[in-house]
Amino acid sequence: MENQTNILTDTFGREHTYLRISLTERCNLRCTYCMPADGILLSPKSHIMTYEEIYSIAKEFVAHGVTKIRLTGGEPLVRKDASLIMEKLATLPVELAITTNGVIVDRFIETFKKCGIKTINVSLDSLDANKNYSITRRDYFTKVYNNILLLIKEGFQVKVNCVLMKDFNDTEILDFIALTKHQSLQIRFIEFMPFDGNKWNMEKLVSLEEILKQVYAHYEPSSFIRLQDKPNDTAKNYQIKGHKGTFAVISSVTNPFCDSCNRIRLTANGQLKNCLFSTTESDILTPLREGKSIATVIEKVVFSKKRTRNGMDTLEKFKDPNSHNNRSMIAIGG
Ligand code: SAM
Ligand code: SF4
Repeated sequence: MENQTNILTDTFGREHTYLRISLTERCNLRCTYCMPADGILLSPKSHIMTYEEIYSIAKEFVAHGVTKIRLTGGEPLVRKDASLIMEKLATLPVELAITTNGVIVDRFIETFKKCGIKTINVSLDSLDANKNYSITRRDYFTKVYNNILLLIKEGFQVKVNCVLMKDFNDTEILDFIALTKHQSLQIRFIEFMPFDGNKWNMEKLVSLEEILKQVYAHYEPSSFIRLQDKPNDTAKNYQIKGHKGTFAVISSVTNPFCDSCNRIRLTANGQLKNCLFSTTESDILTPLREGKSIATVIEKVVFSKKRTRNGMDTLEKFKDPNSHNNRSMIAIGG
């Protein structure tokens, strides 16, 4: 194949070595910021990638230089062949990771270990069971909380993803940070992003600046450490002196990290997206099924990637609803 090593490098010189694969559009929760209240129209089953197709596409990406694959969704673990997919992908020379809502992770501990999965991101938006119910529309707080503790006990690195929303869970920022005192986990505060049907508006956003303001007001400046971020890290990392764990902020709206973006997304129905904010998608599944080259699709998608958030380079542009005309997060894969 021509130009084999370069098809993952975009016109800004960014190398796309990190593939995020959504395994399903289905979920056992109904988070308000991710899924519209009346659900989404699911893709027909025949349009969803089989595990062999997921493997073939992943293998092609790895052949061109992908070194990390994250499984996401929907809830990746509700897919019946989730273990099989993890086992198959674990045969590729990549770091394998997963983002899950944590409801059923206790059933997968052995699979994670067998597949060499070391870091697990679990979503939890409130430490209050009632609030958690109102976000997820399901009653699984205790299950998820206990599963986070179980994962830590089993030796996994746990990152807790918490989407902050004004006047809802921004009152819990310090409680989440307090959790890091005795637990070696990372709390990741995520700025609320706009997707179809999630009623996003700027007023609901809790920004990096507001989060840090709360931290500064509570902790002595000398006890607040700004950690070194890893290359391509989407998060800005911090620690309170003496705490076992750390916390981080993913400020996709107020302080995007596009300059070092190395991510490309594959949706459960076989569409490639070069940016979470991209309003277009490219079908890779049909050419794969027709026995055609999929490298040309990958190349086209990488080469057409824009510099910043699919062109939404200012906060002002978020105010135009057409600029974030996108599928729901549940259908894209976060
Ligand atoms: N079901 C799994 C979970 O909840 O972790 C994986 C899929 S979920 C779509 C992946 C991540 O996207 C979660 O951490 C979730 O909090 C985040 N997410 C979903 N909608 C979001 C939004 N509107 N803004 C910011 N983050 C969002
Ligand atoms: Fe499901 Fe995760 Fe979306 Fe919540 S954030 S509805 S758990 S896919």
